[in-house]
Amino acid sequence: MKSDINIKEEIKEQLDKKPLLIDGAMGTMLQTFGLKQGECSEEWNISHPRVVRNIHQEYIKAGADIILTNTFGANRIKLSNFGKENDTLKINELAVNIAKEAINKETSLKKRIFIAGSIGPTGKILEPYGDLKVSEVYKNYKEQIVILEKTGVDLIILETFYDLEEIKAALKATKENTNLMVVASMTFDKNLKTIYGVDPEKAVIVLEGERADGVGANCGTGPEVLYKVLKIMKEVSQTYLMVEPNAGIPEFVAGKVIYPASPEVMANYAEKFIRSGINLIGGCCGTTPLHIKAMSAKIKNENYSW
Ligand SMILES: [Zn+2]
Repeated sequence: MKSDINIKEEIKEQLDKKPLLIDGAMGTMLQTFGLKQGECSEEWNISHPRVVRNIHQEYIKAGADIILTNTFGANRIKLSNFGKENDTLKINELAVNIAKEAINKETSLKKRIFIAGSIGPTGKILEPYGDLKVSEVYKNYKEQIVILEKTGVDLIILETFYDLEEIKAALKATKENTNLMVVASMTFDKNLKTIYGVDPEKAVIVLEGERADGVGANCGTGPEVLYKVLKIMKEVSQTYLMVEPNAGIPEFVAGKVIYPASPEVMANYAEKFIRSGINLIGGCCGTTPLHIKAMSAKIKNENYSW
């Protein structure tokens, strides 16, 4: 366990002064560079490191304060779907080093950019409905998160979870094995519940009970639905709040997935979120450096009074 207490305090100090802007999507950006549906996006850390680095650099130029590593599905269980489980160490180490390189390349920066380790679900069903044991899930995330801390991430963002037991295991694995700040975020449908039926209030209470440093919502639906989710979260939360909406609700047009929300739409929502006291804001699927740039321009003009 490295001594990351100072990084944690540094991030919290910044968050107490102003909201921080997280970057936008990685997966849908990689698709525009040729990643195929059903291909392992994290393998691109090995095969296309320059593409991944350029995307990070575009987000940094757009104004992001936090960039997320290309590790969303880089846990051993998820990687085994692609027969890549033996590359778990390599893929995660490379991801952090690529993010560091991107920051080093942007030499004109006058601010500190933080690297967040992105952690997503295993994609498997836990007991009692499926056959995956909580202890295996814990071990799975412990392995990935310890690698990320050793290689130098500044915080962990658990994102796009819908099963409370799975995200709890990932959260515990972070709290018990690292000194990193950890934000825990779940994905809610239009009915304001996760597909496992978890509502925002319960998510906040349980995750903060497990010592999450921040909680929030991301992916699934566009900013409109997440605005309702975050409003409920704000009422019960005692900690930092994060939101990463998709660029609207994806539509199928001529066999392609289209994300309808323009950079302007996302920027207007960003302002609304910040005014309601959200501390961390970024974009999920369908967002691009243009969305982050528009969001950055909007929220940097805000006057933060809290
Ligand atoms: Zn997403």
